[in-house]
Amino acid sequence: MQHYLNYINGEWKDSHCQLTVMNPATGAPYATVAQASIEDADLAMAGARHCVSQGLLTDIRPAQRLTWMLKAAEEIRKITEEAALVLCSENGKNLDTARDEFIEAARYFEYYAGIADKIEGISVPLGKDYINFTQYEPMGISVQIVPWNFPVSICARSLAPALAAGNAVVVKSPEVSPIAMTLLFEAIEKAGFPKGAVNLLCGKGSEVGSHLVKHSETNQIVFTGSVPTGQRILIDAAERATPSVMELGGKSAAIALADVDLDTLLSSVKVGIFYNSGQVCSAMSRLLVHRSRYDEVKNAVVDLAQSLSIGVGEDNPDLTPVVSKNQQQQILKMIESARKEGACILTGGSAPDLDGYFVSPTIIEASHEMSITQQEVFGPVLVIMPFDEEEQAIEMANGTEFGLVAGVFGEGLSQTLRVANKLVAGQIFINEWFAGGVETPFGGVGLSGFGREKGQEAIYSYVQTRNIGIRLR
Ligand code: NAD
Repeated sequence: MQHYLNYINGEWKDSHCQLTVMNPATGAPYATVAQASIEDADLAMAGARHCVSQGLLTDIRPAQRLTWMLKAAEEIRKITEEAALVLCSENGKNLDTARDEFIEAARYFEYYAGIADKIEGISVPLGKDYINFTQYEPMGISVQIVPWNFPVSICARSLAPALAAGNAVVVKSPEVSPIAMTLLFEAIEKAGFPKGAVNLLCGKGSEVGSHLVKHSETNQIVFTGSVPTGQRILIDAAERATPSVMELGGKSAAIALADVDLDTLLSSVKVGIFYNSGQVCSAMSRLLVHRSRYDEVKNAVVDLAQSLSIGVGEDNPDLTPVVSKNQQQQILKMIESARKEGACILTGGSAPDLDGYFVSPTIIEASHEMSITQQEVFGPVLVIMPFDEEEQAIEMANGTEFGLVAGVFGEGLSQTLRVANKLVAGQIFINEWFAGGVETPFGGVGLSGFGREKGQEAIYSYVQTRNIGIRLR
């Protein structure tokens, strides 16, 4: 079994304790990783502070950051094939999805490289006696806490804009899937960033994660993960009023209008709820269908679920194991509760007879108030419901505590846009789920969090505005 290390202040460092990472397809141990201690976290913070206080990322031409970032992207692209296999084995996901993560990580570095030398302030007119302007300063040390569902791409999503803006970064990887992130950092190391600019700690959230959040040197927290952990972190962050970005969960709805094109909808359902075995914050976990098309859509969605190939990540099937036994049991428990509440399991609803932590693709007919409709499942489970009037569909779509993404499917632009404009979510898709990319701003409202990642907008999550006023004499 291979053993992986933490990256602290420019060095790979082992630890007295280790975490064992399991292969979700077999349930067997796959690799071990050094479990970062509180002392390791302090070392990483000290390295990052030295980088910040010496201006190693800021007292230079911004174009130098651009150069490092492009080199990082190049190195990430080089390792993609090999590293994707590792990500399959530790995380369960299929090879295409694992490859996508590294390609997307490289894209984040390329995209924000292009912004590194364009973070421009404005001149504020105050009359002939003044010169007044704003400038965007980095936050300092950005502490970034990463979840397991897309560990590589989500890590790069926050790391790249933070570095582009001139912040030093301390990243905490998720316990169950930290290995591919160490490979990402090996690639980033080759880019030549100054010592202390990037740090990776593999450790427990409740210990090292919590310590980083409360650390007196932390200037910003970027958290991507579940609502309860986000709420815990916000309470800790309040102690020092540390600015935070919160990217939390979702229960996103797609509305299929009466004139929906069935094939368009089905291809979106396939990626919307079954991509990464449904372990996606912005998954299409609810489908609201106009009653005139309900039976047709329901039958087609059930057929789709039953046609999916299921297997281990390396064979690249449609559906792979979920990340852990714990995750599998949690999903099955939620399906069982739905059954008890009176929901109808149209297909799936159990673990297929395979080694590993699988959950069958599941379609559930449920009512709006049931817990399966209101709570995030984070697995391949779609709730389907009919509606009669447009207003009712909008009310149901907006009727959870989340607001990450939402979608509308239909032929007429004026109706789809009218509905889209009434949906409460950070990102709305019309006629294609995930109709966005590295370039499009992403983030939630309500319990889905606040702050924006991705796109040019995200750079403002990683800077603070300073205004300078000069009285001419
Ligand atoms: P989680 O909240 O269990 O863990 C996320 C991270 O927080 C892990 O690295 C964990 O070690 C760390 N952590 C735990 N307790 C901590 C503490 N007290 N202080 C600091 N860090 C702590 O989430 P998860 O199970 O890894 O991820 C799944 C969740 O993430 C889902 O709810 C999903 O919707 C959400 N998610 C959101 C987005 C988004 O962009 N909005 C993206 C991906 C996942």
